[in-house]
Amino acid sequence: MTYPSSRLLNMRERLAPALWQLLTQAAQEAQERGWHLYLVGGAVRDVLLADESQPLLLEDVDLVVDGFHRAADVGAGVTLAKALRERYPNARLDVHGAFQTAALLWHNDPVLDSLWIDIATARTEFYPYPAANPEVEASSIRQDLYRRDFTINAMAARLTGRRGEALPLLDFFGGMLDLRSRQIRVLHANSFIEDPTRIYRAVRFAVRLGFELEPQTQDYIQYALESGVYERSLGANTRAPALETRLKAELKYILEAPYWQRAFQLIGSLGALRCLHPSLKLDPLLWWRVRLIDRWLRRFDPDQTLKHWQMRLEVLIAHLEPQERGKVAENLQLPIDSIERLQHLGQAQTEVVESLPQCQRPSEVVLLLRQYKLPTLVLIAVHSYRAIRRKLWHYFTNLATVQAPLNGNDLKRLGYKPGPHYKEMLDALLTATLDGVIQDEADAQAFLEQHYPRST
Ligand code: ATP
Repeated sequence: MTYPSSRLLNMRERLAPALWQLLTQAAQEAQERGWHLYLVGGAVRDVLLADESQPLLLEDVDLVVDGFHRAADVGAGVTLAKALRERYPNARLDVHGAFQTAALLWHNDPVLDSLWIDIATARTEFYPYPAANPEVEASSIRQDLYRRDFTINAMAARLTGRRGEALPLLDFFGGMLDLRSRQIRVLHANSFIEDPTRIYRAVRFAVRLGFELEPQTQDYIQYALESGVYERSLGANTRAPALETRLKAELKYILEAPYWQRAFQLIGSLGALRCLHPSLKLDPLLWWRVRLIDRWLRRFDPDQTLKHWQMRLEVLIAHLEPQERGKVAENLQLPIDSIERLQHLGQAQTEVVESLPQCQRPSEVVLLLRQYKLPTLVLIAVHSYRAIRRKLWHYFTNLATVQAPLNGNDLKRLGYKPGPHYKEMLDALLTATLDGVIQDEADAQAFLEQHYPRST
């Protein structure tokens, strides 16, 4: 391992002046306390990758303070964040004690906009058992970088002790070479055993940046998947809740990105849906269903009142045996309505598939289907045969929005005494409208006079 400090990064020209000033201030605060301060991870990667003619927008900045192993410096990141907060009173300070990290957040600030700076103390991690939550202890910057996911994310630019504008680049693991040859490469063979979310991160970076998964890294993914470590941790319930949260966060990131289809295919070809459930595979039927639900949602939920990424995830989960769905949704900490939807999907599906073909009149279709919400019905649609799908499509396009020519206020205006019978009257009006018995307000009034004489 070398310490290739010969390469210098000229950040000043690349960053907004206010951000450069803030980083300089942070470096001064660290230096006064005898610490080093580094810009690490994604920001360094993005500066190195960016087209120099374009301004670089950095919204997430990760800093690491190296406290030189002194016990007193374990909380160096937090101390530094507090010192900066004094100089930047507009920032919100969040401290995460267990991990010795702090965050400074700006929201719509006139100068720093919506900047988010994480400040950590250099740390290494050891894993008490695979796929568990990392425990943290103070350590040096090299070890901090070694615990990161990929070589391209494991570089640092030193902000302290510099002369002039350029920052020394720390690249212990060949990140620059991999950036040039466009490779996603892990730092060690056990990387994916330690943390399955890295599989999804590898896919995300590969697809987003147009990089390749380096062949040995692919082998490590296969090894981790085939080792059964994720299944064992699922079964034995030894996964830390934080892992499930991070898995969900990575899935969300991927499933809501514009490149989600390519990423999803790559996950499928790696067999990496197994991290969610041992039997989950991207077979042609599942691939067809996730694309189909997308079409339905674009058509029937164009304003995205539903979370489309979550509906894609629900299609994945619904591909499992009915009794498994709720458990996986719970593990991933999906919202309660989503968990319940998946738990009851099998039953709703049976009801709709059995009853819908019996419905003769449009009003019967509406009476049956209006018991279910849009997300349930689109899930049923993509899990049903063609004739059912057509009826559901017809329901959404022609029937679901039909309204009777009179509403509750009109009934009052027409002299009907308000009460529980209003519902029955309005339902009767809607039924008659759907079935073409009444066309307009005059028909509706005549209908009411015939079926609900004014004394009711
Ligand atoms: P993005 O531009 O997508 O936000 P990023 O690299 O900033 O990319 P983050 O998820 O914000 O990604 O993570 C910040 C840094 O933390 C990464 O660059 C990486 O070094 C490290 N990191 C994040 N998640 C992991 C992980 N699961 N394992 C190891 N290192 C990780």
